[in-house]
Amino acid sequence: MIETFTYEALPIRVRFGRGTIAEAGAEVARLGAGRALVLTTPQQAAEGERLRALLGPAFSGLFPGATMHTPVEVTEAALSALKDAGADCIVALGGGSTTGLGKALALRTGLPQLVIPTTYAGSEMTPILGETREGRKTTIRSLDVLPEAVIYDVDLTVGLPPALSATSGVNAIAHAVEALYARDRNPVISLMAEDGIRTLSSALPILIHEPANMEARTKALYGAWLCGCCLGAVGMALHHKLCHTLGGTFNLPHAETHTIVLPHAVAYNAPAAPEAMAAITRALGAPDAAQGLFDLVRALRVPRALSEIGMPASGIEAAADIAVENPYWNPRPVTRDGIRDLIARAYAGERPSAASRAEEAA
Ligand code: NAD
Repeated sequence: MIETFTYEALPIRVRFGRGTIAEAGAEVARLGAGRALVLTTPQQAAEGERLRALLGPAFSGLFPGATMHTPVEVTEAALSALKDAGADCIVALGGGSTTGLGKALALRTGLPQLVIPTTYAGSEMTPILGETREGRKTTIRSLDVLPEAVIYDVDLTVGLPPALSATSGVNAIAHAVEALYARDRNPVISLMAEDGIRTLSSALPILIHEPANMEARTKALYGAWLCGCCLGAVGMALHHKLCHTLGGTFNLPHAETHTIVLPHAVAYNAPAAPEAMAAITRALGAPDAAQGLFDLVRALRVPRALSEIGMPASGIEAAADIAVENPYWNPRPVTRDGIRDLIARAYAGERPSAASRAEEAA
């Protein structure tokens, strides 16, 4: 049934394909800019150097210092590099960490951004920035950080290691899953969400065996774009809040944490979001959304337990306390006992609970 809804399109220009990085110079010119500061992580500095030739005189410098969680010290160092280079636009080439640095610079300077994503995290499609100051991560939502242009080049994702492809892809699926039961969901974003889950869940199992399979790489990046649109358009709920809490409290890796928690968060919310569950099962081709996601993660051969990625057993109770500290909207009320059970299962790598659905129905 079509409910009353609000839909607001975000003004981002997207180019998608293979070899599209060659269009970087034209896209910089289209932004009305002529001196780009290129951002990468230290690991992707060589990719950033490639842009020197592609941008020609519009390449004004490379800052290869992007790092996880967008610490303000790194942003300040990049800001001085930007000023030294006399840059009038930002080109971020990399995953969510590099995109985050570009957004932090845009927030401070108002300069336009071109993002060239190389993971499936989806930050390039959102007006959201998380920054870390003295160990505390704060998140803002503002059109001031929204990139003006994005070039998706499938060729740049071929080197993404299979395990990172898998976890980054499930991170993207999580955006679509929560968009399907978001309080402010709408039919357009739900279409993108369902297709995003379908496309990624069919491509990821191929990529872990054949990382250079271009058809699967193309599908995965296309799915990641759809899922990024979902994250940018509607509000997230339990799953994203929980991953934020767990990641921040125990310094857990971002994409892996999302991958482990997702089936459990879906099991928790299933009784309160039947239409979303129906869409997820259609997209996965599985009889149950939570179990289907767990089976997908199992097939991808990535960690399924928070204990495997560095969370201490003593953290279960603490995380449950923090997770219920600040109330937020979720389709199913968030109870401490329910969340504790969810975290304990995710900690141990167990199958998601099938009991919650029966409890709710009783
Ligand atoms: P990442 O950007 O931290 O990248 C992980 C590592 O993979 C880095 O060393 C990077 O250089 C390397 N890498 C990236 N692409 C590669 C490729 N194609 N080949 C080889 N190596 C490659 O990881 P991520 O998961 O993309 O981003 C995570 C960060 O993004 C988190 O801090 C998260 O909070 C943030 N994020 C923000 C939003 C948002 O809307 N603001 C959305 C999603 C994620």
